[in-house]
Amino acid sequence: MVPLFIDGEFRQSASAERIAVTNPATDEVLCHAPCATADEMEEAIASARAAFKTWKEVALPERARLMMRYQALLKEHHDELAEILAKETGKTFEDAKGDVWRGIEVVEQAANVPSLMMGETAENVARAIDTYSFIQPLGVCAGITPFNFPAMIPLWMFPMAIACGNTFILKPSEQDPMTPTRLAELFVEAGAPKGVLQVIHGGKQQVDTLLTHPDIKAVSFVGSVAVGQHVYRTGTDHMKRVQAFAGAKNHMVIMPDANKQQVINNLVGASVGAAGQRCMAISVAVFVGEAKDWIPELKEAMASVRPGPTSDPAAAYGPQISARAKSRILSLIEMGKREGAHCLLDGSQCEVEGYPNGHWVGPTLFSGVTPEMTIYKEEIFGPVLSCVEVDNLDEAISLINASPFGNGTSIFTASGAAARKYQHEIEVGQVGINIPIPVPLPFFSFTGWKGSFYGDQHAYGKQAVRFYTETKTITARWFDADIPAGGVNTSIHL
Ligand code: NAD
Repeated sequence: MVPLFIDGEFRQSASAERIAVTNPATDEVLCHAPCATADEMEEAIASARAAFKTWKEVALPERARLMMRYQALLKEHHDELAEILAKETGKTFEDAKGDVWRGIEVVEQAANVPSLMMGETAENVARAIDTYSFIQPLGVCAGITPFNFPAMIPLWMFPMAIACGNTFILKPSEQDPMTPTRLAELFVEAGAPKGVLQVIHGGKQQVDTLLTHPDIKAVSFVGSVAVGQHVYRTGTDHMKRVQAFAGAKNHMVIMPDANKQQVINNLVGASVGAAGQRCMAISVAVFVGEAKDWIPELKEAMASVRPGPTSDPAAAYGPQISARAKSRILSLIEMGKREGAHCLLDGSQCEVEGYPNGHWVGPTLFSGVTPEMTIYKEEIFGPVLSCVEVDNLDEAISLINASPFGNGTSIFTASGAAARKYQHEIEVGQVGINIPIPVPLPFFSFTGWKGSFYGDQHAYGKQAVRFYTETKTITARWFDADIPAGGVNTSIHL
């Protein structure tokens, strides 16, 4: 059983309730995640609260040095972490390494925290009066993470929160808790003091405890739309600061002047990579005008890639995370056919030799998709790409702006004017120009919009520092003999 990490100790939960963690390529049980008991939750929160008192007083450069040591250890254990991650997610080894690497980059950003936590100053805001601000941590923060990036997404959260002087309780996905456990072990090895990070496991009940507990000041969430809305509503109802990153439906616009081979290569990678289980995956290709003539070649390119186990270096991607996820995808593919889309490539019968119990779905391509269809509206989270055809760029922009989601999008074109118009008018938070998956590096922030994000301040970068801190503004006057005492004043100064 995966241990809980409470008050500086890795220990077995007393809970009888547990969730099986499986290898999605074989369906074999790898371990179990316990559902932490109410007492264990209380203990974790109390320990984090106690640790905050001392951790917030630790000097900024010392907090930064913890992140530097952690970064070095994560790099040293990069392959080992990727192996654990690949086993419980089914990702290819290279993709698993990428998952870890994108997290390491956030730790590097967290090591910059001294300069990120500098406030502002102004002298003589009134005669002999100065104003300056400090940035101070909030207290105990919590993070709830999804299955699809078990290294990167926990690392979006706790290094930034802790570097800012907070303590943190992580509730990773119950589907792949082994990677976050190893991340916590390495954090201890890097010198993290007792109680600064706690890791608890479970599902709705444990999440709801975090959302309602008076000692939790802020909650970061990444996951599906329904749960994201629940987390945002419940957390804010309990007067907490909440940032909730939710589902997506990302469009790529293909202009007829784009480089055809680049378009095809990038569309295949961005739609089926990680078995389509990325919140920034491209799930809709919007062909403008004559670009639609490339669909047959896109089909050929998609048909040439296949899923497989981590041990197969020729596999383009791995299995879906669970039998439930696979069966949901297959029913959406069926729905697409029933609602009149043309299924050019159907991956629903996919099998992988030697892995009869893996949750495989082959690359799937639909053309003639319209906005009313379920496969257009729903986040499928599988290797399924829908092609939509429009006459011009304005039509493409209107289509995408009407989507309730706004996580990522991209345009492939050789025209600077088209790209400039697109970046300006599109109502999506992360835009790629000839880049299919424009995830910003951690010195920027991860800025999804609309139904893909509930909250104000986003993940990592300067926005994460604002999310995990309060600003205290001080206005100061020092009397000396030259300043007359004046009289009592009962009105506001003009
Ligand atoms: P999920 O919503 O099922 O689970 C996310 C977390 O919430 C897990 O820790 C889970 O234990 C917990 N949870 C599940 N049901 C709950 C409930 N009823 N109440 C409280 N907590 C609950 O998401 P998932 O399937 O693990 O992840 C896939 C989803 O995450 C996709 O929709 C994807 O788009 C989204 N995602 C979004 C981003 C982003 O940045 N916008 C990034 C990665 C993933």
